[in-house]
Amino acid sequence: MKTKIRLFTLLIGLQLFSLQAGIVIENITLIDAKSGARNGQTVFIENGVIQSIGNASESNVENSQIIDGNGKYLIPGLWDAHVHLTFIPEIDHETHFKLYLKNGVTSIRDTGAIISKLQPSLNFIEENPSTTPRLFYAGPLIDGADRVYKGMEPGFPNLSIGIDEHSNIRGVVDGLMAEGVTFLKSYEMLTRETYLELLSVAQENGLRVTGHVPLSIDLEEAIEAGLGGMQHVRNMDLACAKDADNLLGKRQNSLENEASLAGSALRTQIHSAQRYYAIDNTDDERCLRIIKKLSAYGVFQTPTLTINTFDSRRFYADSKWRETYRELPESAKNNWMEGSLSLAKIDATENAIKFDAWSLSLVNKMHAEGVKILAGTDTPIGYLTPGYSLHKELELLSEAGLSNLEVLRSATITPAEFFGMEDQMGTIEVGKLADLVILNEDPLESISNTQNIHLVIAKGQIQ
Ligand SMILES: [Zn+2]
Repeated sequence: MKTKIRLFTLLIGLQLFSLQAGIVIENITLIDAKSGARNGQTVFIENGVIQSIGNASESNVENSQIIDGNGKYLIPGLWDAHVHLTFIPEIDHETHFKLYLKNGVTSIRDTGAIISKLQPSLNFIEENPSTTPRLFYAGPLIDGADRVYKGMEPGFPNLSIGIDEHSNIRGVVDGLMAEGVTFLKSYEMLTRETYLELLSVAQENGLRVTGHVPLSIDLEEAIEAGLGGMQHVRNMDLACAKDADNLLGKRQNSLENEASLAGSALRTQIHSAQRYYAIDNTDDERCLRIIKKLSAYGVFQTPTLTINTFDSRRFYADSKWRETYRELPESAKNNWMEGSLSLAKIDATENAIKFDAWSLSLVNKMHAEGVKILAGTDTPIGYLTPGYSLHKELELLSEAGLSNLEVLRSATITPAEFFGMEDQMGTIEVGKLADLVILNEDPLESISNTQNIHLVIAKGQIQ
């Protein structure tokens, strides 16, 4: 009996210890996009939350793990605000999660996945809460009747559902909310009427709709109707053209789809016909008016410069970048190596270089007008390795003209704001969730220093 009691006490003791064991990071420089840099700080973390900043009391130190932060930098955990966990089935969720955390990415936003395919990822996180990033998901792309991603053509896995004016949109949104989605992702083939109704139902339910602005609608109308966010700066090219109204009319005709093309082919055909023409015929005044409207209406932008510059930067042609493929499962690694080497033989086209310059200069203008920018990549599309690619995006945002602190904001505070969680995440403050990254070098000196990681803490646990 005595032994039993002692064992019980011991177990309780262990349990208490594991609940209460804290982490103290001593004498470190804190850097976040709200307060800038603060030298010589001590941070005490317990139960997944930042408990104190300043001097850790001795009683806390006794039961805690001590980390010497001397000469090091502490930043909030990073977000990748545009990932697709299910896009390449060979890259399983465990690999995704491991690579995000290794790279300091403690929160991810999945911007398109059929829920049943995402379910194993959700289960894994539930079963392994302390060794996985936080996952926010939209569920499927909400597309029109001629869906682009329906799993029928190579390169277009089934990621979507299709709705039209006959659909019960309220029912669709209710169903997705019951599955745990906290935002919606719209897609390009939606009709204007269906899209407007989707925006309205989403707003009633407090959900932001981000995504590709449908080809059928004028961007300014979408902004005024409550569009929450845009991906890849898609549709800005079309909306900024001097004859944007004429281009919209042509698109609406094409969308009648008289040749019964697959949605993916029709979408590509429309972009090929209009994108580079529109970029060559930008009306700067009109574009500035639209950018100011984006800013005034608080529309979040996830420019995904890594994917917009896929054919110009050609990371896949860099043998050092291809080293990151070694961390993928065998079959994915081999496919990526083969695909990369064959693509690397092709030079960047004039259009790819044009689109690259246009994307970066547009981000610069948006940022100057106060548009909210989120760091996101589209990984694992475009041979963009999960986790590593987020740091490429940070470098590109810096090249687009954001200061290093503003780049950090795009991967910390702004994504938290998208979800209305800025009181819980995004900065290093007492009471905030303990998602933190210790860097060996100063990210304000060079944003590339976010790649020199000493240690990652996610959900209050050292990874
Ligand atoms: Zn995407």
